[in-house]
Amino acid sequence: MKTDIAHLAERVRSGERRALARAITLVESTRADHQNDARDLLERLLPFTGQAVRLGITGVPGAGKSTFIEAFGLYLVGLGHKVAVLAVDPSSPRSGGSILGDKTRMEDLSRHPQSFIRPSPSGGSLGGVARRTREAMLVSEAAGFDVVIVETVGVGQSETAVSRMVDMFLLLLVPGGGDELQGIKKGVVELAEALLVNKADGDLASAAERTRRDYANALHLLVPAHDGWAPPVLKVSALEGSGMDQIWSMIGQFRQTLGPDNLARKRALQAKDWMWQAIEDGLKERFHAHPAIAGHLKALEDKVLAGQASPTAAAQELLHLFSAR
Ligand code: GDP
Repeated sequence: MKTDIAHLAERVRSGERRALARAITLVESTRADHQNDARDLLERLLPFTGQAVRLGITGVPGAGKSTFIEAFGLYLVGLGHKVAVLAVDPSSPRSGGSILGDKTRMEDLSRHPQSFIRPSPSGGSLGGVARRTREAMLVSEAAGFDVVIVETVGVGQSETAVSRMVDMFLLLLVPGGGDELQGIKKGVVELAEALLVNKADGDLASAAERTRRDYANALHLLVPAHDGWAPPVLKVSALEGSGMDQIWSMIGQFRQTLGPDNLARKRALQAKDWMWQAIEDGLKERFHAHPAIAGHLKALEDKVLAGQASPTAAAQELLHLFSAR
């Protein structure tokens, strides 16, 4: 099996698409034997990761994320880049009903030989889905993709998870209204390192300019420049494909402002965060799987619900059962 994984790693590194797809399937698998192989594979590929520009994109459904990623991705492959598009959508299974996963999205980009599009891994907690996407990002980098775009829907907690795995997090807005009218959850704007007002075309052009100005003013007041970077607000039309060069050069400026040392530090801190996330997930899983816990959990939960036990006492009893040999 070991040599098999070594061979798969080689094929991924040579940029073979089928190997890349297989490697990601392995990384996404929840089977215990697959997880061992996936760890082995990631260890082998890790030295060859890190060279990509890692971008996150969020926006409410209908903001134009897939239209934008298609236009931006095609612009980038036109410049000679290799673009991987991954998604974090914990809300739905891979087969049908997914907010982000359907096949007709990004049709031209998905056919392009320099691009690779992968829908969100299905099932499990947000933490699990996000971890698998992060690892798929590393596999894509080892396969030579130099721009990785991770897409997520701007309606839940997944934005935070995505912002923690990328270098730069972008929020796609639509013309008209502030956060509440747009359905943007509190805190998401603060995560963004740049805002893009999409649909700045036709009848919506002047509304887009108003929205750009409003957000630029609000950001100026609300979000202090961080590491010398004040999040800009740009207009774009994904439908017409305009504004793409401006966005790419803005991303370049961001990276330049950050500098290689700060970027490396940001990524290192992100990796440390992910280690702790993995520890917390692992502990929780073990806790729930522990035979002594299974026998007592429900009863103690009921006692807490009924006010017959204090939450602290119940938690301590369970933790004691968990750590007792
Ligand atoms: P998503 O749900 O965020 O992925 O949004 P989609 O990319 O599916 O776009 C939602 C709708 O907005 C579609 O009908 C698109 O054609 C439209 N749309 C996307 N980008 C633009 C744009 O730049 N201008 C205009 N006018 N419509 C757009």
